[in-house]
Amino acid sequence: MNQTSPHPPALSQILGACPHDCPDTCSILTTVQDGIAIKVQGNPAHPQTAGSLCTKVSRYTERTYHPERILHPLKRIGPKGSGQFERVSWNAALSDIATRLKAIAARDPQAILPYSYAGTMGLVQGESIAARFFNTLGASLLERTICAAAGGEGLVHTLGGKVGMRVEFFAESDVILIWGSNSITSNLHFWRYANDAKRRGAKLICIDPRKSETAEKCHEHIALLPGTDGALALGLMHELIKNDWLDHDYLQRHTLGWDALKERALQWPPERAAAVCGIAPGQIRGLAQAYGACAHNGQKAAIRMNYGLQRVHGGANAVRLIACLPALIGAWRTRAGGVLLSSSGAFPVQRAALQRPDLLAGRNPRTINMATIGNDLLRPSSPGFGPAIAAVIVYNSNPVAIAPESAKVVQGFAREDLFTVVLEHFQTDTADYADYILPATTQLEHWDVHSAYGHTDALLNRPAIPPVGEAKPNTQIFRELAQHMGLTEPCLQDSDEALCRQAYGDAVSFDALLANGFATLDTPEAPFAQGNFPTPSGKCEFFSQRLAAQGLDGLPDHVPNHETAHSSAAYPLAMISPPARNFLNSSFVNVKSLQDTEGEPLLEIHPDDATARGIADGDTVRVFNDRGSYHCRARISARARAGVVNGLGVWWRKMGLNGTNVNQLTSQNLTDLGHGPTFYDCLVEVALVSA
Ligand code: SF4
Repeated sequence: MNQTSPHPPALSQILGACPHDCPDTCSILTTVQDGIAIKVQGNPAHPQTAGSLCTKVSRYTERTYHPERILHPLKRIGPKGSGQFERVSWNAALSDIATRLKAIAARDPQAILPYSYAGTMGLVQGESIAARFFNTLGASLLERTICAAAGGEGLVHTLGGKVGMRVEFFAESDVILIWGSNSITSNLHFWRYANDAKRRGAKLICIDPRKSETAEKCHEHIALLPGTDGALALGLMHELIKNDWLDHDYLQRHTLGWDALKERALQWPPERAAAVCGIAPGQIRGLAQAYGACAHNGQKAAIRMNYGLQRVHGGANAVRLIACLPALIGAWRTRAGGVLLSSSGAFPVQRAALQRPDLLAGRNPRTINMATIGNDLLRPSSPGFGPAIAAVIVYNSNPVAIAPESAKVVQGFAREDLFTVVLEHFQTDTADYADYILPATTQLEHWDVHSAYGHTDALLNRPAIPPVGEAKPNTQIFRELAQHMGLTEPCLQDSDEALCRQAYGDAVSFDALLANGFATLDTPEAPFAQGNFPTPSGKCEFFSQRLAAQGLDGLPDHVPNHETAHSSAAYPLAMISPPARNFLNSSFVNVKSLQDTEGEPLLEIHPDDATARGIADGDTVRVFNDRGSYHCRARISARARAGVVNGLGVWWRKMGLNGTNVNQLTSQNLTDLGHGPTFYDCLVEVALVSA
């Protein structure tokens, strides 16, 4: 294995990291022959990856050498959204972009907005030089809420941070609640541990409105209504209390606010919770028996949450309630008990060193929430809002496809007076609205360093091949743009290798990353066996004084959806929009082999709901509400529970049957905490378009 040169000449294997928005952050091994990547596979030496990648990333060479890859800078020559561009040189593109941005910045730099998320999870190709560039300008700040903000707040106000069980110890658990997660699709390497536990005799219970691939393989499936997870957790607590399946010693020593939480939970007998969740009371009693009695008998009970359940109005409160559960039964006492939503808080990322907020030099720009970009692009200047957004620089994101209420997002990006630059691999829905598209490198072509949110290993990504075409790393694009704008701050020219070293500083051995491609953090096996939660009190905070001080409820509660099931005669169906199995948000949608597997945009609908509307399997249907309509193919399927339809996403709009996707229907309403979007809090109706 040649690990010393970034562009080895002969057959070699290069260690990297999967950059995609997935908890698993796999270590990948790219085989390169004569400068061409011929194979991407999982690194067998990385215990979490164990030599296997998901289907999506196994096709990474197909994505990297895709015939539609953008290979040189492009300038718009047609109307916005028409997708008509001409090739220009890097110098011409960057000179013009610099001139335009300088003119806007001279009026008010807050009129410039960065828009980015987890198109790469890399710390270097994400927010390093890019953040320094925007901080130097004094551009608007972006509140990066689109995926995990509510759940993150829920964890912070209960456990004290994005921390939890170590994923490998799920293999030793006796009961595993897989809550709001289709692990087979979106957390494959956790599923390996869950399967190990299952083979040992563990009981697996899936809690998810959709009968997912994962739900099918669990012993039980609780198909609750979207946005009712908090009510289920309260009903479960009620039964733990009534049956005294509690660890009184743990509660007394390591929790805060038990008496108040107990009083609240006792208001949620199974009948009440079941009515809200749309399930049978017996399912809650059974769940409590499995979870509570197991721990009472000395067995290990674990919960794997994922972010699906927090994409509703009460998302943060639901996560808070679920995160309380292990403390009730003392599950944290062993390494195979507790809860895991995210491990990202364990990583000693040196964000200030990477992003340099000091470059703001005392300025305090406004913050724009990426979840409300549809509204904010359409807002005029005002004293409250500040200047209208005049320029958007999009990197690592595809807001026209993925942001909610996309009719408004499209309207905003179509503004003739908006200057838009998109750094991309492909001509996405967003790139169609760009004034300039700048070709970005893929993970096989650049350096990066990664943390993870599903395990506790830091990873290094080395470039395996030279940039394809004229593509450049995001970092290099911002370095050159800074030069064209005459920005002389030296740290804007730091090299990628220097940035990789800065990402963890001395907190993670860079030599270990260079040698192995990964380094395991030194984290305790049972982090909260003796309490020591990273909360202000050091306890698991059922009651949060920090929230109470903000005038909010200090205790978690069930917070109903903005659009509660059965609350609208016009829109009687609740819709969730989980990712199609072979896509990852809007990434991979244009990879032909994966697209062929998925077929076309689908809506899963329960047989009863289909029959009531005269819909047969394979019919074209119109899914609609007051925000818009989306045409797709109906799949009559037991994966959908009655009253809930599953609009699998996220297809690019231009691949949709009527040029839209599911986000035509989702709203810009926000979550209870964290200002997150509420994609799964959405009522619709479905009608037949044609047979
Ligand atoms: S998407 Fe997830 S499972 Fe697939 S290779 Fe990347 S990290 Fe691994």
